[in-house]
Amino acid sequence: MRILIVEDEVTLNKTLAEGLKEFGYQSDVAENLKDALYYLDIRNYDLILADWMLPDGSGLELVTQVKQNSPKTIVLVLSARDDKESEIEALKAGADDYIRKPFDFDVLIARIEARLRFGGSNIIEIEDLIINPEEEKITYKDKEIELKGKPFEVLTHLARHKDQIVSKEQLLDAIWEEPELVTPNVIEVAINQIRQKLDKPLGITTIETVRRRGYRFCFPRGA
Ligand code: CA
Repeated sequence: MRILIVEDEVTLNKTLAEGLKEFGYQSDVAENLKDALYYLDIRNYDLILADWMLPDGSGLELVTQVKQNSPKTIVLVLSARDDKESEIEALKAGADDYIRKPFDFDVLIARIEARLRFGGSNIIEIEDLIINPEEEKITYKDKEIELKGKPFEVLTHLARHKDQIVSKEQLLDAIWEEPELVTPNVIEVAINQIRQKLDKPLGITTIETVRRRGYRFCFPRGA
């Protein structure tokens, strides 16, 4: 589970990142709207914690944008505004929850967990191909495919960025925890696994190689 923290107050965003890590969540920290949009462009998040008042804009703008692009991503708005009008405004903008500052960290975690439990499913369904990231499960015409670990994550990432060319560097950055410690050929290995375990037995093409640029998810169009 990966969480994006958008909060300009440095001590708070640090506390949040460290606290979330203890609960097993990976997170990235953006201190302004611009950085948040940058992260959203390169990575997939299960949940976003967005502060309302950011140095370069409103966290609610971010909510609107996230919900337009990926309606199932959960967004929790954090704010010191304690009037009900603000809370209603945030929820109307698309926030899944509204958390007033200052908040108790344990309560925040409980709310995050509740949202992730009942929140949107991230299942990707493209014709007969169903990818379930939470269960690390792929089915095609009701047949289960044995593809796990990094190859599974690579496939999921590319499927979420359908029809876009994703470079090896972007894949490394999105999926590997310490991309600087691995060589880019781990991507080739993962792609090869996808082709051997998924494409070949089913007679389909899910990923095409775009020379010198990267990879593109091309199912069901085929390559
Ligand atoms: Ca702020």
